[in-house]
Amino acid sequence: MKTLLFGREGKVGAVLLSALHTAGHDVTGVEVGEPVDPAGFDAAVDFTAPTAVFGNASVALGAGVPCVIGTTGLTQEELAKLDGLARESSVPCFIAPNFALGAVLMMRFAAEAARSFPNAEIIELHADTKLDAPSGTAKATAVGMGGHVPIHSVRLPGLVAHQEVILGGPGETLTIRHDTTSRDAFVPGVLLALDRLRGLPPGLTVGLESLL
Ligand code: NAP
Repeated sequence: MKTLLFGREGKVGAVLLSALHTAGHDVTGVEVGEPVDPAGFDAAVDFTAPTAVFGNASVALGAGVPCVIGTTGLTQEELAKLDGLARESSVPCFIAPNFALGAVLMMRFAAEAARSFPNAEIIELHADTKLDAPSGTAKATAVGMGGHVPIHSVRLPGLVAHQEVILGGPGETLTIRHDTTSRDAFVPGVLLALDRLRGLPPGLTVGLESLL
């Protein structure tokens, strides 16, 4: 598969570059300011920045190249525009707020627990280099729990990606916690998305859970 990777030198991008190569992809990495011609690529992957992802994905989708997006922070308006572009080009665009399997399970468990515990709060902790807050995973978790769940964001050096969902009831609390200890955690999810991409309908598909 001929794969274009936006964000080649980023923390996730650097891990993905070698993982995609090892998995047999013919991968071309792009960094900020480098000219891009997506024509001829089978897929584009974006792990860049909230300010860059919309432009990158628009160029790829406009050229008829399906996308896998990991960058968080896209607005609802931008998501709707990407959905429209992907439909116009009759290609899929897959977006997941979290490509780690354990995080997807955490969201599923939290949704289940919220049915029994009406009071809950989310604490999401990430490296101080993460530009958006709250995290896409925390927002998706809250939606899955029925919304109106307060989210607290911590940004500190030394962290990768962590989240606690704390549910409280009379005389007890339940804590569901997921820790990403290295960016290798995102690789299997990205490979799965690329593998399944061509079988997805045109337009946006959101969340790794839709592929599991
Ligand atoms: P990072 O270390 O800052 O890497 C981003 C990289 O993208 C940098 O090398 C940056 O270059 C580059 N870049 C910026 N604009 C670009 C453009 N227009 N074209 C090509 N490359 C561009 O960040 P990260 O930790 O790898 O995370 C990247 C994004 O993925 C963030 O939004 C993060 O929240 C998200 N993320 C998602 C998941 C998930 O599972 N969905 C997991 C981890 C991270 P410069 O440094 O020169 O600006």
